Amino acid sequence: MDRRKFCRTAIAAGVAASYPLLSACSRSEPPLATSANTSLRGISLDGAEIELEKAAIKELGDAMTGPVMLSGHPDYDGARKIWNGMHDRRPALIARCLNDQDVSNAVTFAREHQLLVAVRGGGHSWPGKSVCDDGLMIDLSQLTDVAVDTDKRRAHVGGGALLGHLDQASLPHGLVTTAGVVSHTGVGGFTLGGGYGRLNRKHGLAVDNLRSARIITADGRVRNVSVDESADLFWAVRGGGGNFGVVTQFEFELYPFDRNVLSGTIVWPIEQARDVLEFYAEWSPGLSDNLYTGPMMATMPDGTGVVMVEVVCAADPAAGEKEMAPLRALGTPMDDGIKMQDYTVMQTQEDAAFAHGVRSYAKNGMVKEWTQALVDTMIESFVFDPRMAMFTHTAGGAMNRVGDVDTAFPHRNAQTMLSVGGGWMDPEMDAEAMAVGRDWFSKLAPFTGGYYDNIQSNPETVSSNYGPAYERLAKIKAQYDAGNLFRLNSNIKPA
Ligand SMILES: Cc1cc2nc3c(=O)[nH]c(=O)nc-3n(C[C@H](O)[C@H](O)[C@H](O)COP(=O)(O)OP(=O)(O)OC[C@H]3O[C@@H](n4cnc5c(N)ncnc54)[C@H](O)[C@@H]3O)c2cc1C
Repeated sequence: MDRRKFCRTAIAAGVAASYPLLSACSRSEPPLATSANTSLRGISLDGAEIELEKAAIKELGDAMTGPVMLSGHPDYDGARKIWNGMHDRRPALIARCLNDQDVSNAVTFAREHQLLVAVRGGGHSWPGKSVCDDGLMIDLSQLTDVAVDTDKRRAHVGGGALLGHLDQASLPHGLVTTAGVVSHTGVGGFTLGGGYGRLNRKHGLAVDNLRSARIITADGRVRNVSVDESADLFWAVRGGGGNFGVVTQFEFELYPFDRNVLSGTIVWPIEQARDVLEFYAEWSPGLSDNLYTGPMMATMPDGTGVVMVEVVCAADPAAGEKEMAPLRALGTPMDDGIKMQDYTVMQTQEDAAFAHGVRSYAKNGMVKEWTQALVDTMIESFVFDPRMAMFTHTAGGAMNRVGDVDTAFPHRNAQTMLSVGGGWMDPEMDAEAMAVGRDWFSKLAPFTGGYYDNIQSNPETVSSNYGPAYERLAKIKAQYDAGNLFRLNSNIKPA
């Protein structure tokens, strides 16, 4: 069996089948209405219609090194598109920033005009927070430089870089840090919201490895933040999302790493799900930090249901072989793809399944414990539908040894982050596919507590989701962004 078929979700199959529909996602419309052609229609922070003088936009354009793009600019449509094809929005203007000063100019323009502002890093926001209709999109897509300091074992990463840029820059030096499972995800949103990846048990979340950041706050000031400088703000950006400003550079700790890792995916038919998941519930709490294991349940294009466990051993392969032997001996797998392979094979194996333009929906929650009742519900709630899958990010290890409020990331004691999500290409499927995902997750939700802001955004529960960190976050928000300029995120209201 071709193990390339077994991706994090079987959406690979559903999406690939309708891939030609991607082109249908683009739409071409005339420029926004203008008043005597001297102004553009925009939208304020409060949602009111406002007029933007073209002279003021020209002034912004003149001050910037990168282009300011309006509808009709040849790069406008490409720039406004984000990963999730469900969000087809048209900003009044897009400021493509090439340096800190560009970002500062764009932020100042938005603040002075009280214009709704969206910040685009890698553009992977599931709920589409990085693009808006009629506002200003601050586009960081050109800030992708990564500089590796091998002596200090640090990576300095541009605010619009993708996770693949980070891996590609650090691995040739035998160094690595925690990055997520799809290489075209942005370092920006990923890190600011927490940052789970295949090394989070060994090295913690991305926020745990962040050593400093350069951030442009709502007043347009460029600030360096670290434990020694603006420590409150540095604490807040480690989990508080894009609430506090635009980060143009991240500094990460790197770790020595042999990129040839024992890794891969084991696949069993869904009929063996009980054996696999019951075994996993007992086995996984005792694993070493070196082992990342992520169970998933999905449907293949031919309608076959499967349960899979992805494994990465970030240490001595002989020890890894021994540790994962009981898993590999389990039942009768359809495929056992575990072997020695380059880490980037794992880090990119799901890129195509999650291709840009897919229409996608996901729900998630934090699981403290794999109980028998959870396993029973996983089996009973499984839906045969290639558009949707259940997948997990295993936590524990190093990320759970960080104190609850040492960073603003709120879910230190969860054992697993569980999601139901998927993708399809046909807009006509939107309502039905989302209903399938919503219904599936609703059965698992009672076993979760809290959710990961980076995947799901619940405006009405943001404060409780942050638990004991929220009050401090709200105070810091009031100090640096009292007007709530940065609100297209999991929004923290200024205290
Ligand atoms: C296919 C896919 C795979 C994923 N895999 C993982 C995973 O393995 N682990 C994990 O933890 N999460 C994962 N996620 C979730 C991911 O972390 C979030 O979607 C994250 O927000 C993406 O960041 P981005 O920069 O690409 O997104 P964007 O859409 O650009 O931004 C998301 C949010 O962050 C803000 N933002 C982005 N960059 C900056 C910046 N430089 N400064 C200030 N604010 C900024 C935006 O304003 C927006 O509010 C995945 C998401 C997808 C779609």
